Amino acid sequence: MKTINHSIGGQWTTGNSGLFQKIYNPATGEQTAQLVLGEAGEVDAAVCAALAAFPSWSNTPAAKRARVMFALREVMNARRDEIAQTISAEHGKTHDDALGEVTRALEVVEYASGISTHLQGDFSRDVGPGIDSCAERQALGVVAGITPFNFPFMVPLWMIPMAIACGNTFVLKPSERDPSSANLIVELFQQAGLPDGVLNVVHGGKPAVDAILDHPGICAVSFVGSTPIAEYVYTRGCAAGKRVQALGGAKNHMIIMPDADLDQAADALMGAGFGSAGERCMAISVAVPIGEETADRLVEKLATQVTAMKIGPSTDAEAEMGPIISLEAKERISACIAKAKAEGAKVVVDGRGLVMQGYEDGFWLGGTLLDGVTKDMSVYKTEIFGPVLSVLRAKDYPEAVALINAHEYGNGTAIFTRDGDAARDFAKHIQVGMVGINVPIPVPVGTHSFGGWKRSSFGAHGIYGPEAVHFYTRLKTVTSRWPTGIRAGAQFTFPNME
Ligand code: NAD
Repeated sequence: MKTINHSIGGQWTTGNSGLFQKIYNPATGEQTAQLVLGEAGEVDAAVCAALAAFPSWSNTPAAKRARVMFALREVMNARRDEIAQTISAEHGKTHDDALGEVTRALEVVEYASGISTHLQGDFSRDVGPGIDSCAERQALGVVAGITPFNFPFMVPLWMIPMAIACGNTFVLKPSERDPSSANLIVELFQQAGLPDGVLNVVHGGKPAVDAILDHPGICAVSFVGSTPIAEYVYTRGCAAGKRVQALGGAKNHMIIMPDADLDQAADALMGAGFGSAGERCMAISVAVPIGEETADRLVEKLATQVTAMKIGPSTDAEAEMGPIISLEAKERISACIAKAKAEGAKVVVDGRGLVMQGYEDGFWLGGTLLDGVTKDMSVYKTEIFGPVLSVLRAKDYPEAVALINAHEYGNGTAIFTRDGDAARDFAKHIQVGMVGINVPIPVPVGTHSFGGWKRSSFGAHGIYGPEAVHFYTRLKTVTSRWPTGIRAGAQFTFPNME
């Protein structure tokens, strides 16, 4: 049986904890590997390796650090298929979807390749008599990333390229459910010429996370995962004096206005609701049609499409949706559907009980469509993170906006309409961080930054893009007086330019 090891200081190691966890192929339900589970000792070893690598790496000119990113881009492009297969083997998503994940990760690498420009400082001559001022951004030191299962390749790469391009060294604690992608990232960086110790990976669960949050050698933590853990990581990390950004869960609504192109809206809902089996923080999980007529027509179209959706393993090129990440998640999602029915939702299409021929032990669920969902139902209030699309009917646009603004999450949202006024009003007033106008999954490109509002994100900074430069560096301002010959005498007033 394959063992998935930590990578510390450029060496693969099983560490000393003696703890292991089973890794599965969700399509077959078979164990494919065992994962080493690190604890405080492994985290400490990784931090020591990252601390040792920091002086040399942070003093490497930014243009040379950027060269590693340029090389990484080439390596990633050359190994795209292999990367996608590694993702799908443990996550279950379709091959095309996994390729999409690689492409979005590449955007961050490409942005990080321009780090010399992103780190350019400001200079002001003669801010006082013979006095100049310059502002620069310097690396923090060792930073850590803690990542979720649903994008095992892309989310670590939302963090690592920008963090290390800024001159930091890094400790990654990936999801313990699909960890092979993290080790592949290490391999890719090694191939791109990254020095040992700049990137380290420690596998594990809560004990490894707690060790990261408490370790005095770590300056900053980037977290992506569910809201309860994001809040925990933010609170404990901040209490330990660290800079923390913690991105959490979501409940993303899509408003369908009566004037929208309903075929286009239904197609968008299929992809955004059921792509990657709904296991995306930007998945649309609530469709909000305006008016009964729009709702009836939309539900009819969706019912046909959900029933016809092609479900299969990632090796099936025709598959539109793969299995669920784990048996536990499948059972949790099934229980959510049962509860929705008990609370009065109409189960228009029921994905429970799907048997995939030849893959009977896999973690399969079909797509589920619920109608008549109300805001008091638990299926509306909680994040399901599965292939379940709820339809909540609103009488008019203001009611739909009020509904979205009242929800505790504020990650993504969309409106489908031909009405420019409504679209413009929506963009301005909706209390959500990422907004789509006739775009169902408005994940910002790598040159912008990603981040939700309300309980979908804790901390001041978005992830990747320009916000990452601010998160992974700190500002230094140098005020200097030349030539030395100027003598103003002792001055007891507060310094000013006179
Ligand atoms: P999760 O919160 O269970 O796990 C995320 C990370 O936290 C993992 O590395 C895990 O090992 C660690 N962790 C889990 N339980 C912990 C505990 N009790 N104490 C300390 N650490 C713990 O999330 P997941 O199930 O892997 O991923 C799905 C969630 O991530 C969803 O809620 C989804 O919305 C969210 N997500 C958010 C974004 C975003 O950008 N906002 C992106 C992707 C996923």
